[in-house]
Amino acid sequence: MHHAVARLREARLARSRKPFLARGSNAPRCPGCRVALTHCLCAVRPVVPTHAGVCLVMCDIEPLKPSNTGWLIADVVPDTFAFGWARTEVDPALLELLADPQWQPYLVFPGEFAPPERVVTQVEAARGKRPLFVLLDATWPEACKMFRKSPYLNHLPVLSLQPERLSRYHLRRSRRDDHFCTSEVASLCLALAGEAQAAETLDAYLDVFTHHYLQAKRCLPAQWQGAAHQRLQALMQPAGGATAAA
Ligand SMILES: [Zn+2]
Repeated sequence: MHHAVARLREARLARSRKPFLARGSNAPRCPGCRVALTHCLCAVRPVVPTHAGVCLVMCDIEPLKPSNTGWLIADVVPDTFAFGWARTEVDPALLELLADPQWQPYLVFPGEFAPPERVVTQVEAARGKRPLFVLLDATWPEACKMFRKSPYLNHLPVLSLQPERLSRYHLRRSRRDDHFCTSEVASLCLALAGEAQAAETLDAYLDVFTHHYLQAKRCLPAQWQGAAHQRLQALMQPAGGATAAA
């Protein structure tokens, strides 16, 4: 399992002097999904190739958190890139990606924090270009800091999402009620780009992940036939269902 976020996590672990201890659990975790081995959900990990890509700019500690949902995006969307953020330096590979002519990058952030002339609410990639959603993967205060202190992102249009529903994310509390978790933001972006299948799959996969994560925390078994799993399974069926095989 070597997607972009897994690689970033490995690099971050290699750099740290002290072992990172995830809060609240001594149970051994699966390296593939980061949930307790008893609640591993690797067997249902969906992959949906997309035209659009996702570029995660991650706050230092973020790849180490078992509850980080950027990981789920990298599971589902093969063209996911991930970079660590630092105030004083920028990964040259990130600059290269942003300058790559095949991509049309959008910095996804609430429009009220950007000058109006930078703000867009629709995704309209130019001919021959693929939308690339740049997401600041961090807590809300950290994301604000990253937004202000990353001059190399200042030339990008700011894609402001108009969410109609509040976050269903229960793993981490946020001070802002309308602060979506990173995979929910990616799902909304994919929907805007016309990638309904990927958007819904990522959304359903977040529910499955959240269910397993919370059940493990509560020492209760995962419900493999529960609502979250059923929704994900339905999305993973080939179009037309098994009967259309002939
Ligand atoms: Zn697993």
